[in-house]
Amino acid sequence: MAVDQTSRSDSSVRFIVRCTAPTARCPACGTAAGRVHSRYVRRPADTAVGGQPAVINLQVRRFFCGNDACQKKTFAEQVEGLTFRYGRRTVLLQQALEQVALMLGGAAGERLAARLSMPVSGSTLLRLIRRLELPAVPAVEVLGVDEFAFRRGRKFGTILIDMHSRRPVDVLPDHTADTFAAWLQDRDHVRTVCRDRSGSFAEGAQRALPGVPQVADRWHVLHNLATAVEKAIRRHRPCLQPPESEPDLGPATERQEPVVTRTEENTRARWQQIHPLYVKGMKIDAISQVTGYDRTTVRRYARAASPEELIRSRPRRRTTLDMHKPYLLARWTEGCDNARSCATRSPPAATPAPARPSVASSTPWAPGPIRPPRRRPRWPSPTSCAGSSDGRRTRARPPGNTSRTSAIVADT
Ligand SMILES: [Zn+2]
Repeated sequence: MAVDQTSRSDSSVRFIVRCTAPTARCPACGTAAGRVHSRYVRRPADTAVGGQPAVINLQVRRFFCGNDACQKKTFAEQVEGLTFRYGRRTVLLQQALEQVALMLGGAAGERLAARLSMPVSGSTLLRLIRRLELPAVPAVEVLGVDEFAFRRGRKFGTILIDMHSRRPVDVLPDHTADTFAAWLQDRDHVRTVCRDRSGSFAEGAQRALPGVPQVADRWHVLHNLATAVEKAIRRHRPCLQPPESEPDLGPATERQEPVVTRTEENTRARWQQIHPLYVKGMKIDAISQVTGYDRTTVRRYARAASPEELIRSRPRRRTTLDMHKPYLLARWTEGCDNARSCATRSPPAATPAPARPSVASSTPWAPGPIRPPRRRPRWPSPTSCAGSSDGRRTRARPPGNTSRTSAIVADT
C-alpha cells in the first residue's frame, strides 16, 4: 500500500492511498488473481487523527478470478487490517465503535463517539452490537439456571450461569422445560445443575441429563428457609399466651370484638375456591386457568393448610382517630359521607357515644340505605391497555416459581 498524498482541512484529515500488491486472493476460492478488471475509490472512515476525523481515499482494484470453476467472476481486493467487505469504516474504527457500544450502549455511546471525533448514531451502535458474533459457550461443570425478565411481569427468559466463574454463559428465549432440555442436549460436561424450585427446570434437566444431581442455590435455600420459618411461626400464633397484666386499653365499652375485614373475607373465599381443587390433585397451572388468578397467588392459597395462615391477624393499634369514631359513626349513619363536613364539626373526645351501639358490632361503616357511597370511575392502566390490545392476558403472570414457598432442602 502506498500513501500518495495527505491533506488537512478544517473538518478532517484526508489520505490518498492505493494498493500496490501485484495479486489478490479470490474470497470464494482463494486463488491468487493478477488480471485487473477495473479500479475505483473507496472512502472508509478511520479513527481520529489529531482530534479530527480521518478519511482515507483508497484506490482499490477489481480482479478477474482465474479459476474457471469459481462462481465469482470478479472480486474487489481487500487490504488486510484496513478494510472489509461492504465496510464503510476501517477495521480499527469498527472495533473502536464496537467497544464503545458494548460499554455505553446507544445514546451514551453516541455522545462519547462525537467527543472522540468518531461521529455515529446511537442506532448504528446498537446495530454493531447485534452483528457481533456471540462467544462460544464454554464447557460448564456446575450450571446455574434461573429466570430473568425481558419484560417485567410479562415475558421471561432463562439465564444460564457458570457457577465456578460466576459468569453468564447463555440466555434462552423462554423458561420452559423443552427449551432448557434442548440446550442441555449433548452437553455432557454438566455435572451438577444448580437451580431454583421451578418444576420446568427440574423437568428439563431430568429429561436431558438424567441422573445429574440437581441442587438448590444458596439464595433460594435461604429464601425458602425464611419463608418456611415465617409460615411455621404464623401457624403457631394461637399458641402464644396473652400477657398476664394487660395494658389499660380504656373503658370496657370501647373494646370491641375483632371485626372481620373485607380482606379477610376475600382471603377465606379465595382459599375455599382454590385449596379444594389443589387437594383434588389439579395442577397449579390448571387452577390458575380455571379461577383466573395468577400462578403465584394460586400456589400460595393452594399450599396454605388453612386461610388463617394467609391472614395476618394483627391486633389493631389504637389511633388518634379512635376518640372521634363515635361521633363520625353517628354522622355516617345519618348519611353524611363528606369528609370535610365531618372533620370541621367533629367535637373533641368528650362527646358521648351515639345511642345505637349495636351498629358498631360487625360492619359499622357499611353504607346504609340512606345514601350509597359514590364510586369514581376506574380508568384502565396503560399496562392493561397494552396487554389487551395485543391479545395477551391482561393479568401479569410472573413465572411459576417467584413465590417459592415450598419447604426447602427436603428433596435437594
Ligand atoms: Zn474465485
